Amino acid sequence: MNSAFTFLSLAIFPLALFIFWTLSTTGPSSPLGRGFPTLTNKRICLLIAHPDDEAMFFAPTLLALTKPELGNHVKILCLSSGMCALLMILDSASGWFLIYQITGDAAGLGHIRKQELQKSALRLGLRNESDVFIVDDPSRFPDSMTATWSEENVSGLLASAFAPQLAAQASSQSAPMATIDILLTFDQSGVSYHPNHRSLYHGARAFLKTLMRGNSNHPCPVTLYTLTSTNLVRKYIGVFDVPIAMLSGVISNAFGGSGDRDTLSTSPSKKTQELRGIREPPPANRLLFVNSVDDWLSGWKAMVYAHKSQMVWFRWGWITVGRYMVVNDLKKELV
Ligand SMILES: [Zn+2]
Repeated sequence: MNSAFTFLSLAIFPLALFIFWTLSTTGPSSPLGRGFPTLTNKRICLLIAHPDDEAMFFAPTLLALTKPELGNHVKILCLSSGMCALLMILDSASGWFLIYQITGDAAGLGHIRKQELQKSALRLGLRNESDVFIVDDPSRFPDSMTATWSEENVSGLLASAFAPQLAAQASSQSAPMATIDILLTFDQSGVSYHPNHRSLYHGARAFLKTLMRGNSNHPCPVTLYTLTSTNLVRKYIGVFDVPIAMLSGVISNAFGGSGDRDTLSTSPSKKTQELRGIREPPPANRLLFVNSVDDWLSGWKAMVYAHKSQMVWFRWGWITVGRYMVVNDLKKELV
């Protein structure tokens, strides 16, 4: 009786998981997911710190927003070539594993990781390798577990990349313009508290403030979304985090207010939309992307087959049961 019950449970669990996962998916072909807001016809930049951030943290977002029918053009801007690595070595004297950080490009790791990022981006739906930009400037943006990047340096780089006419605008008082509509990056906790990730959040906010300096009468042409960080337990419950993410989004919307009252944030300007022939509602305050099983496998393969140099043993747990491989919830930032 007990063994029959156990066998039945083992048989039912994968089926129940598959049904739950299918119902939780937010893609256009999912049964319940069509009502979730998304982004269409937007010029989108994902700002990351290291090659592999796009696959380990943002795979559901990229796989959702690069769907051709949405008409988005998605690019990735990565601020380091990823020359920092962690080594775990068994110390025979103490019997403990010791963690060492190594930094440098002695083995040509930086070059390898650039190629890995490009391969991964294509697996996650980007149109072309040329849509991936990697800034290799260790003096300003060192890949390090202990280095915080200057807010001014990150903001300055974003301004030169996406608002090159900023200086002319400041003197003319004309509406701010940018070559992107949407900027995506980490939130202030950076998912893993990595200082490089957290620097992107502060730099992105500083960029929007710079863009709007002296232009408070106009809406900001760039909308900033940040990836919500969760506690340790939620990080490792995969698709089962979907109801929690949904509930926390509802509660946050109910008690956090709508964000549209702030003229510095929100949607691309009406003028920008008219110039581009687009009349759409402003971007939602929150975005939720839940991978289908197929898309989850695409993210999984982006790590395993594209980021081969990074697939040390502890990454297998992250990509198999990690919620960021399945669920991304992003919040529109008020600046
Ligand atoms: Zn990273």
